Amino acid sequence: MKSVSDNPEKREMFYEGKAKKLYATADPDLVIAYFKDDATAFNAKKKGTIEDKGVINNRMSELFFTLLEREGVKTHFVRRMNDREMLCKRLEIVPAETVVRNIVAGSMAKRLGREEGETLPFPIVEFYYKSDPLDDPLILPEHAIAFGWATEAELRAIRETALRVNRVLIDFLDQRGVILVDFKLEFGRHHGEILLGDEICPDTCRFWDKATRKKLDKDRFRRDLGDVEGAYQEMLRRVEN
Ligand code: UDP
Repeated sequence: MKSVSDNPEKREMFYEGKAKKLYATADPDLVIAYFKDDATAFNAKKKGTIEDKGVINNRMSELFFTLLEREGVKTHFVRRMNDREMLCKRLEIVPAETVVRNIVAGSMAKRLGREEGETLPFPIVEFYYKSDPLDDPLILPEHAIAFGWATEAELRAIRETALRVNRVLIDFLDQRGVILVDFKLEFGRHHGEILLGDEICPDTCRFWDKATRKKLDKDRFRRDLGDVEGAYQEMLRRVEN
């Protein structure tokens, strides 16, 4: 007897990204995401591996997606299948990455000449065009509408959802002694509906320890700060508790 909790058969790999591989399944609505240990930064100009990163990011994404679903955010998450694989709803990805910022860091500090660590008076939502040859340039929502990457209604839904995700994650992480500095989300369409996709983990968020401001995310890899694996493990420990 087949039941909905049976894991579908894994078929051909149809996409390989920097951190994940995607496999088709017998069900055209479902895909399997396989989480790799490969780490890249600066549009893959820096490459390396972070031991067990795939296992940690798969588990942490499961915990965040479950929390967000409970809070009314619709995501592609179906279930975690094993250490490195997650069953997801198939998405037609919107080619604009959504970044939410609470504290100035990274590319915003550089672009605008602001000190990293400055608290913003309100969260700022930014969009970046997903293009490796162009290094993911910052865009206006109008560009996405003009070039047909998303409709005005979709961008409105994406922006609202991104701010909701920010609120939920800030509160959850604050109780665990973590500051949510900024993060990147990806959205896609599933039968016409916009769902939150991709992953939520130390690769895609900046997490700072509340007491010491120690970086507990991929900046340890990007900036050669050491103890990269330790930071990922520490973040998972906090999120699991
Ligand atoms: N980010 C990401 N993928 C990208 C670019 C950024 O996950 O391709 C995340 C990054 O981890 C950070 C936030 O989005 O949490 C904002 O990144 P920023 O624009 O500062 O770029 P970066 O400094 O990573 O180049």
